[in-house]
Amino acid sequence: STMPPLLSAIANAGRHGVLAKSAVVMERLGQVDAVALDKTGTLTTGTPHVTDIRPRPGSGLDEEGLLALAAAAEHPSEHPLARSLVRAAHERHLTLDEASGFTSEPGRGVTAVVGGHTVQVGSPARLGPVGGDPETGGVVRALEDEGRTAVLVLRDGAPVGVLGVADRLRSDAKSTVTALAELTGRPPVLLTGDNERAARRLAAEVGITDVRAGLLPQDKVAAVREWEAQGRRVLVVGDGVNDAPALAAAHVGIAMGKAGSDLALETADAVVVRDELATIPAVVALSRKARRLVA
Ligand code: ADP
Ligand code: MG
Repeated sequence: STMPPLLSAIANAGRHGVLAKSAVVMERLGQVDAVALDKTGTLTTGTPHVTDIRPRPGSGLDEEGLLALAAAAEHPSEHPLARSLVRAAHERHLTLDEASGFTSEPGRGVTAVVGGHTVQVGSPARLGPVGGDPETGGVVRALEDEGRTAVLVLRDGAPVGVLGVADRLRSDAKSTVTALAELTGRPPVLLTGDNERAARRLAAEVGITDVRAGLLPQDKVAAVREWEAQGRRVLVVGDGVNDAPALAAAHVGIAMGKAGSDLALETADAVVVRDELATIPAVVALSRKARRLVA
C-alpha cells in the first residue's frame, strides 16, 4: 500500500488487537528493551473468585454477614477484588445494604459507611491493625501462604474478618513472558500492590524472578524511573487505577482493555482491545519491523 510505514504499523497493530493512539507510539514501542507487568488483571484474568470467608470470632458476624458487609462497602468500586466480592454476594443471593460516603485509595482499599458503621476493606498490610490482633494476623498469613490475596475487613476500626481471593493466570501468560524475554533480552519484571508470597508464587509459574510486591502507585512509578535512569526504555502493561501513573511514566504504557479501569485506558499510549496478553509481543515485533522500514 502507499500508507506511510508507521501508519500501516498502526493498522497492523489494530489487526492484532492493539489500538495505538498515535504513530509515535508505534515508533517508541519499537525501542523498548525492558518490560514491567502488573499482576492483577494483567498477568491474571482479572476475574478472581472468593475462596475463603473467615469472620472473626466475637465479631457477631457469620460468613454471609461478613461477605455482605464487605460487598456493600465495595459495591461502588471497579477494582477486580471488589467485583469478586460483589459477585460472590450475588451468587449467595445476599441483600446488600446501601453504602454512603464511599472513598477508595489505589493500592490500599475502600472505605464506606454501611448500616451506620464505618467499614474498610482492603490490604491487610496497608489497613492494619492486624499486628494488634494475632488471631486475624494468623488467618491472613495462612491465606497468603496458600497463594491467596487476603482481604481485611475493619468495622469502626476493628478487624471483623478476612476474605481469601484467588486469581488465575491468563492462559497465554507464560508464552507471553517467554516471548517478551526473547524480544528484549531480559525477562519481564512483575510490579504489584499485592502481597509478596502470592506474587512470587504466580511469578514462578511463568518464569518471572524479579518481583516487586506491596507497591503503591507511586512505587510503581519509582521502579520505572529507576530503570529509565539506567538507560532502559520500559514498556509498562497494566489495567488498574493504581497503574495509571506508571503507564504515564513509561516509555510506552499499554492498558488491558477489557478489565481496564477508565483511568488506565485514558492514560495509556495503547490499549489491548482483544483480551489476549499475547498481542503485546506481537505488536512489539511489528513495531520493530516498521522502524526498520522508516530508518
Ligand atoms: P495489583 O498491582 O496487583 O493490580 P492493586 O495495586 O490494585 O494490585 O492492589 C494492591 C492491593 O491493595 C490488593 O492486593 C489489595 O490488598 C488492596 N486493594 C486495593 N483496592 C482494593 C479494593 N477495592 N478492595 C480490596 N482490596 C483492595
Ligand atoms: Mg491490576
